[in-house]
Amino acid sequence: AAGQAAALTAQENGASVLLLEKGRHTGGSANYSEGIFAVGSYLQKEKGIEVSGTDVLKEEVEYSKYKADARIWRKYVDSSAENVQWLANEGVVFERVQAMGAGEATWHIYKGFGYGAIHNALEPKFLELGGELLTSVAATALKLNEDGSKTVTIRNEADGTTEDVLAKVVILAAGGYLNNK
Ligand SMILES: Cc1cc2nc3c(=O)[nH]c(=O)nc-3n(C[C@H](O)[C@H](O)[C@H](O)COP(=O)(O)OP(=O)(O)OC[C@H]3O[C@@H](n4cnc5c(N)ncnc54)[C@H](O)[C@@H]3O)c2cc1C
Repeated sequence: AAGQAAALTAQENGASVLLLEKGRHTGGSANYSEGIFAVGSYLQKEKGIEVSGTDVLKEEVEYSKYKADARIWRKYVDSSAENVQWLANEGVVFERVQAMGAGEATWHIYKGFGYGAIHNALEPKFLELGGELLTSVAATALKLNEDGSKTVTIRNEADGTTEDVLAKVVILAAGGYLNNK
């Protein structure tokens, strides 16, 4: 999800993008997701659903026994409506907005779930714009060069061969954020 969104945005803004996926298929955990959180989205407005971002923030911080970083949550809440709009603009179709369990109606369900959002909208659009995608290819090392460029070592997971790629900018979106220092 993070890699696809970053790759598409960079490609749209004129960069020449190489998107790497070490698995055989793209999408990562997003393939298994169902919908995205948001407050104040255009879909909620259309349906007259009113949810207070501050109430959500309070609930989440209390739920985590004050371990959750309220500043990160605030940013997430404040940009959530824009995220839904961005996805819609990129061709992601939303089926409905519903509550997750007993909570507020903040869950924006994608048509075809997360798999549909990635494989029917974000990825085809990235490829249409000329983005290059390699699957079964892992990034294994990142070197910062003196001139500011970066050298990324990539490994073909099928045959073990490696190659160096020179890049101006590298975006790491390898997941595992919670468990990876
Ligand atoms: C069953 C399930 C249901 C979920 N439901 C929801 C939901 O309804 N709503 C919601 O908001 N969230 C949901 N989530 C959480 C959500 O899916 C994740 O938060 C989100 O997908 C994380 O995206 P990401 O791009 O950061 O990481 P990931 O999805 O983990 O993607 C990282 C990708 O990077 C690749 N990669 C890793 N290392 C390398 C490397 N060295 N070189 C090349 N590629 C590499 C991985 O193979 C993977 O494809 C759910 C998660 C699961 C498991």
